[in-house]
Formats: sequence, C-alpha cells, structure tokens
Amino acid sequence: MNITQEAEEQRKMAIEKLNNIQAESKYLYILDPGHGGMKNGVYQTSGKRSPIWDDGTQYFEGVGNREVAKKVGDKLKDLKIDFAYTVEPTDATDVSLKERVKWVNELPYKNVILISLHSNGASAEAAQGWEIYTSPGETTSDRIATVFYNRFQDKFLDRKFRKDTRDGDPDKEANFYIIKKTVCPAILLENFFHTNEYECKNILMTDEGQNKIVDAIIESITFIELNGIPK
Ligand SMILES: [Zn+2]
Repeated sequence: MNITQEAEEQRKMAIEKLNNIQAESKYLYILDPGHGGMKNGVYQTSGKRSPIWDDGTQYFEGVGNREVAKKVGDKLKDLKIDFAYTVEPTDATDVSLKERVKWVNELPYKNVILISLHSNGASAEAAQGWEIYTSPGETTSDRIATVFYNRFQDKFLDRKFRKDTRDGDPDKEANFYIIKKTVCPAILLENFFHTNEYECKNILMTDEGQNKIVDAIIESITFIELNGIPK
C-alpha cells in the first residue's frame, strides 16, 4: 500500500468511526484513554500501574482510563454531545501516540477538542493531587484547561491541586506528544496518583471516586457547550 492509499484508508476509518455523529453540539470531543488495556488477563503496557497494595489489589492505569472514557462517552451520548474515541474503551490495544495523533489530525471536522485521560505515577508514594496539562505557550487549550480545573476543584475539595500559575492560569505545560502534536486544542488530565494509596483506593478504584471524575468532565464539557470557550 502506498502512502496516499494508506492516508485514504485512515481517512475512511476515521469517517466510519464517526458515522454516529449528528453534529448537534458546538464541538466534537475526542476522548483519548491513555495506554493499553487488559487483553486475556495481560496488561498491554509496561509500568503505568499501582503497587500491589496490602490487600492484594492493584490498579492498571490504562484499564482505569478506559473505564472513565467509557462512562464519559455514555453520558455524552445521552446528552447528544458529539464525541469519538481515539481508541475504543473495549479495545485493549496500546495504540501508539503517533497513530492517535494522526487519526485526530485527519478528522474532517473543524471544532475538535481532545481530552486525554490519564492518572499519575511517581516513585514517591507521598506524591498526590490532580493536575492538567496543555502544550507550552498561551493557546485556546489553556482556557479550556481552566474550565476543567475549576470543575475538578469544586468536586474534590479535600484534594491537592498541583498547578503552575506563573503564566496566569492553573494548567501545567509540557511537550507531551499527544497534546503537542495534535492541531486541535488539547488537554491532558492527570486524574490523581495511582501510586498514592489513598487516591488509588479511594478515588480511582471506587465507583464513587470514578463517577466524580466523570461528572467533573461532563460538567466542564457542558459548560463549554453552553458558554463557549472562555475568552
Ligand atoms: Zn498515563
């Protein structure tokens, strides 16, 4: 297959994936569940997991990211807000960042916002809190990130919020491939630390905690749908 054919195939696949979209909402939200999932009991990504806790439980980030993405998608469907996944939550494949970005950049739509879903890991178990990333520089993504930051802060009053306000907004900036290479506005959520026992067991591994994350994302999206992206 030559390059043109391959690009054509990719485009066809993108459109096929989007055939349920009714273009009812202001934006098309792309949900990007980070890393791979569990295939026949085998986690598809190295690292990106919690320690095995004293009670024998363990959290796999890519699995949790898919659970959150699925719940967000289900709610968006009910709300008739257009969305698509870079990787279907039922697909455990650890699709490369390059492929994800290529797919997003070839979408035949203008008003696209990418939301990459992750949880955080650190070698120090004490590390905790929530953070949101955009690519460096002042962009539309910063203003979208502030909407998300405020909704999460309202919902998780007892948690730490790790921010960088040197540039006048609370998001952190980094050259993460998925947010740097996508041409649309893009944010990356680090939904607490799976390496912190409290956050892992009380937020990421419980329905209640996960649902709070989902609700904060839905409220952020509905805010943008109602008010547009803040100026
Ligand atoms: Zn991650």
